[in-house]
Amino acid sequence: MTFLKYISIVFVVVAAQGAFAGHEGGNGTDNSRAEDGSAWFLGEGNTIKYCLEATADFGLSQQAAGVEIRAAFSTWAQYIQDKKVNQSPFPTALTIAHKTLEMTACDGTEDLKFELGFDDDEIKKFKSKYENPTAFAERVQYDKKAGWGKGIIWVSKARVVDPNMGFPEWTDDKLLRAILLHELGHVYGVEHIQGTIMDSNLSQLLEKGDIKGSLRTRIDGARDLKFCWDCELNYSGVIGFGVGADEDVKVFSNLVGVNPKGKIVAKLIGKSLWSGAILKISDDNGSTDLPITIEPQGQSPSFESNIPIFKMVTDTMTYSQKNDARVVFGNANANGKSLNLVVEINSSSEGAIGPVILKQVKDGGAHMVFRSIVQ
Ligand SMILES: [Zn+2]
Repeated sequence: MTFLKYISIVFVVVAAQGAFAGHEGGNGTDNSRAEDGSAWFLGEGNTIKYCLEATADFGLSQQAAGVEIRAAFSTWAQYIQDKKVNQSPFPTALTIAHKTLEMTACDGTEDLKFELGFDDDEIKKFKSKYENPTAFAERVQYDKKAGWGKGIIWVSKARVVDPNMGFPEWTDDKLLRAILLHELGHVYGVEHIQGTIMDSNLSQLLEKGDIKGSLRTRIDGARDLKFCWDCELNYSGVIGFGVGADEDVKVFSNLVGVNPKGKIVAKLIGKSLWSGAILKISDDNGSTDLPITIEPQGQSPSFESNIPIFKMVTDTMTYSQKNDARVVFGNANANGKSLNLVVEINSSSEGAIGPVILKQVKDGGAHMVFRSIVQ
């Protein structure tokens, strides 16, 4: 069998704005600077000096809060390592600092100050940007040349955000940890992303009990973020909605140009989707390889709508590490026909690796082309 064996997907990147909502209230983004929302501390070898102060009526002792802060830092440091966030092909200047040093007391030389339960004029000024916040992270300085900032993480005293329900009760299991993980996420340049500890409605979800147990001590939740510079694609899957369904025959003949014989088997393989992948379709007659190529500098009408997190800014570069829970729209061609493929990666909310889904947009709908199966 001879078939046209080239699919090219072209897309341009469209910046996704992080939504500021929920416990942090509205925040206009019209005048935002490049460094807004980016990591406060850059350079993997550098150390963040922090200190904490808690009021007597914060609702948890300073010592107990310190334990939660250390644990939250530790979780992020491990996450950055595990997810290879600092192993991008970009310079060392665009890596995230995650080593920490806890000072015995705040003396003004700290990079990051945890202010727990305070309500002074400076706090009131910052607080006015948010709507009844449980906590916020406020950067007060950022030196783009040094890639280094200074700021505070503020946390409300107990039971004042929702007095009727007595929320937050800081003695509740791991409640403070979850809030600290979220605010530290902002310090590391992470935007809001649903289904993780960075959910914009974290505070409400915690109060309702929707985020409990171990979900309060980890960053990934319903969604398992992946950072794939080098993730190999090796997905077995089905064409159309499944083997035996009428749809797989239609999709097969659409891609391959003839009707299938016998059992259809499909695989998406390759070094990565970004460096070139192959959709391998087999039936009793043999195998067809459809190379998929993505050209980042390509032209519209395609776009990518994944969410940039781990944003980093220096005086010369801005960079957003992208998570892999993404959707890519693109134009593609097979057998001379435009396929208008949509590529969805890790689009399930189940936290599994994958799936990868290819859909063809036509007749006002998105029709399944390939669906990987988690094995
Ligand atoms: Zn937030």
